[in-house]
Parts: sequence; structure tokens; C-alpha cells
Amino acid sequence: MKVTFWGVRGSVPAPGPKTVRYGGNTTCVELRTDDNALIILDAGTGLRLLGEQIVSRKEKVNTNILLSHTHWDHVCGFPFFIPAYIPGNSITFQGPVHYEQSLKDVMVGQTQYAYFPVRVEDMAANIQYKDLKEGSFELEGLKVHTRYLNHPVLVLGYRFESPKGKIFCFGTDTEPYYNVFGEGEDADPDAQNIADDLNTRIVDFVRDADLCVWDGQYTPDEYKIKQGWGHTSTVQCMEMGMKAGVKQFLYTHHDPTRSDDALDKVLEDSRKYLADKGSKMQIGAATEGVTIEL
Ligand SMILES: [Zn+2]
Ligand SMILES: [Zn+2]
Repeated sequence: MKVTFWGVRGSVPAPGPKTVRYGGNTTCVELRTDDNALIILDAGTGLRLLGEQIVSRKEKVNTNILLSHTHWDHVCGFPFFIPAYIPGNSITFQGPVHYEQSLKDVMVGQTQYAYFPVRVEDMAANIQYKDLKEGSFELEGLKVHTRYLNHPVLVLGYRFESPKGKIFCFGTDTEPYYNVFGEGEDADPDAQNIADDLNTRIVDFVRDADLCVWDGQYTPDEYKIKQGWGHTSTVQCMEMGMKAGVKQFLYTHHDPTRSDDALDKVLEDSRKYLADKGSKMQIGAATEGVTIEL
């Protein structure tokens, strides 16, 4: 498998000189199987650049775009994905179901004239939509497992297992489950047990990953005031990765306010944290334009 990052920024694009090294586009990851089949994870603004590369190579597109969820930073690149306008191309969106609207309604809704000048009906590619739940399926020769994560809307994490036995896990827009009735001595023990069990399921989900790309938007101090916003702190990421035996862990969904220099510092602190724990897990930050081969 080859994993290429086209967008690694969280919440809103953050272009400019202070984010040029790690990148300012919102979430989009290109996954190529060993047979070079294309699977795309999320359709943030990075999808536009991936589309340009595909068109420049004159590559015919028959792809699945797997969505973590439909918050706008994860879908707003779709109307700018040129392969969607080319006849003969085929795109299938798969993502978590919503209580109020189908996946198709949400994706098509963002091309209403109130938001965008071209209707999805005017796109010439064959575009399909498939609601996904927790489960397992085969895609382009990979085993894919999905797992619900913890965010204000339904979010799915993805685990890919290649025929060569390599494992790539991707989870964004999530934070560890916690006891919403409070912690400490007054905490409801049943609620705490439920939260602990759910977190154990997530550890099992990323177990033994060769590469785990996970939401690490906040520093521990930021997390203290943003608990419940649906993003993970770096220390929570590292603890999860160490428990699961992850080999290489990359933070993604970088906070839009995080400059390149600040992200360097986050990584420096993280490496110290892991060294203190005696962990050999590699830690890094997903970086636009970088490809990792598994
Ligand atoms: Zn997001
Ligand atoms: Zn979100």
C-alpha cells in the first residue's frame, strides 16, 4: 500500500507562510493498493490537488471515496474534483449514515445554487453513494474494517489490511470516550466502565498497525478546555498507539492555528514523552505531499 497526504489540516484550510511545510489543505488521503487501485479517504480541499494530478496523468478514475463523516472540512473539496466532470469516470462515495439525511442528500446539498454555481447533476462522471455502518468488507483486494469513533456526529474510522499483511489505520475527528457524568470519586462507575470498554475497542481497532494516522489536533493543555469538541490530544494519541502496538503513528487534522514551528515543538515534546516511557513507536505529523509505502 502507498499512502499519500493531500490535506492534513483540521477544521478549515489554513494556507500561508506559517503552514507551508506541513500544509494548509483540509483532509484528503490517497491510498494506492499494491495493484495501484485508487481509494480516497475524505474529500477536503486536498482533493482538488489530487484531482489535478490524476487529470495531468490522463488517468481514468474508477474510485471509492471513503468519508470519515460529512463535516464541511471533509467534503468541501468534492465540487473542485475535476475527474467528477469527466465522462466515463466513476466515483462511489461511502460514509456513515445520518439520522436526518442520506449520504447522497448531504453530498449533493453542498452544490445547491446557494453554495456553488454548478449542480452535481451537471457532473459527467457516474457518481454513486453508499451508506456505511460499522463492519467489514473487501475493497480493491484489501480487507476494510470500519469502527464508530467519538465526535458530535457519527464518524467512521477505517482499518485496511493488505494481502501482504500490512495494516493502515485512519481515524480523524475523534476523541477518547469519557465519563460525561464527571470523573474522580463522584463518578458513576457504570458510565466509566462503558467509556473504558469503548476506548478498549478503539485500541483493538488500531492494534498492530504499521501506520496509524489519527486526529491529534490538540496539545494536552488545549484539550483541557476543548474536551467534547471531538478531537484528541497528542498524549491521548500516544497512549492509544503504545497500548495497541502501533509501529508508526502520525498526527493529522492539525489545528488551523498551529504553525509549522509550533507543530515541530509538539513533535519534539511527543518524542520526549515516548522516550521517557521507553517506547519505540515512531511519531510524526502527516505532511502534505508526503508518501509512505507499506
Ligand atoms: Zn474535521
Ligand atoms: Zn468533524
